[in-house]
Amino acid sequence: MKIPFCTFCVKTRVFCSKCQSLLDSGEYSMLDVDVSDALLNIATGKMEEVLKNVEYVKSYEVGDLVIVVLKGIKALPRTIIQQMEHDLERTLNKRVKVVEKGVNVNELATQLASPAGYSQYQRPGFPMVPRRP
Ligand SMILES: [Zn+2]
Repeated sequence: MKIPFCTFCVKTRVFCSKCQSLLDSGEYSMLDVDVSDALLNIATGKMEEVLKNVEYVKSYEVGDLVIVVLKGIKALPRTIIQQMEHDLERTLNKRVKVVEKGVNVNELATQLASPAGYSQYQRPGFPMVPRRP
């Protein structure tokens, strides 16, 4: 699993200047750190080999739903994706949808957003602004 942050920074939440600048620039948020951390925990044991060519792209929070965009999951069995979603949901305590890069996230969010999350989805900043740290 390739992530944009150092493993050490994700694990300790103490960021080196490189990781800090990724957060400061707004390119990534603490949500990305949390999801990266959860993914690192998933990509262990036999999953490490399965996910070794998968690259983390970005996460989007829409109400109680988190859409996790990854690169290189197209060839993976559906059961692996479901397992990842299940593990991420348990860690993040939110509904999680894992998608391959290239999917229209705004469209997907509209389809998947629950009625409860709808008002948040419509907040200023629409379509979607990554959550700031
Ligand atoms: Zn770092």
